[in-house]
Amino acid sequence: MIDRRQLMKMAATMSAAFGLSNLPEPVLAALKKITPDRVPKLVYLQGQSCTGCSISLLQAASPSPLTLITDYSKLAFHTDLSATSGKQALDLIDQYISGQAGEYFLAVEGAVPYDMPDACVIGDKPFADYIEKAASTMAGAIAIGTCATYGGIPAAEGNPTGAIGLREFYKRLNKEVLLIDIPGCSVHPDWVWQTIIHLVKVGLPELKDGKPSLFFSRTVHETCPRYHDFQEEIFAQKFGDKGCLFKLGCLGPNTLADCSTRWWNDSQTWCIDANAPCIGCASPLFARNKNLPFYRK
Ligand code: SF4
Ligand code: SF4
Repeated sequence: MIDRRQLMKMAATMSAAFGLSNLPEPVLAALKKITPDRVPKLVYLQGQSCTGCSISLLQAASPSPLTLITDYSKLAFHTDLSATSGKQALDLIDQYISGQAGEYFLAVEGAVPYDMPDACVIGDKPFADYIEKAASTMAGAIAIGTCATYGGIPAAEGNPTGAIGLREFYKRLNKEVLLIDIPGCSVHPDWVWQTIIHLVKVGLPELKDGKPSLFFSRTVHETCPRYHDFQEEIFAQKFGDKGCLFKLGCLGPNTLADCSTRWWNDSQTWCIDANAPCIGCASPLFARNKNLPFYRK
């Protein structure tokens, strides 16, 4: 457990490293209030999303999802999980977003329909209005999943909603916010929960291109158990064969994620262990083209 002095030192280092001085004053003030003893609330909203990331988050193994959403993140609202509904839910969200309910982190799952705001509403207000207003009241935001990070499937060419990720949304609005991107379709529960625990217990995790370095600094390819086969040019010719899956279109070389060392489903398996090539679900290019091949041709 770090003490307050260490925390303040770390916060100062991180502020310098991430240019936090550029952030709006209310955001800086909220960030300064965070100590290891005070866990900010988490307000979790969904835009253009299939809810797959929320389902994945509930697959967390240890600690359990219940512990994570009560002890570590103090979930104030979640579209699917909250018992509150109707006007009560809308009032609750409004209180947080308007800055009247105390400090909070905003978690966003799903893309923002920039060209067609009415395509995604909460109550009778566009989802985009909420996240625009949150820019000046939240301590920071976490984009959960490839849709919230890069636009994902809703942003595939031909979609008339003009779907974009959160970072692009705030950029177009000229809003400086603290934003952590966690791509993945769906997202790995560890990537999100460990980031949240780090945020509330220690402070900002180290980021690279807006993503936690711990999870997204090496390609799937670099740590793949079939990398040796790749080097030896031993390639699978059909699904189920042993050997590197490169010639079957594996996107591991183009995808930053630690699946090959982390594994999925409580460490039971992961894509390549199941003889399926990586489809690049955490990559910015995922689902970009409407003719997206799930495997590189
Ligand atoms: S299976 Fe994919 S990730 Fe693994 S070594 Fe081959 S190309 Fe790289
Ligand atoms: S191996 Fe590739 S497709 Fe599979 S979960 Fe990881 S990034 Fe996504």
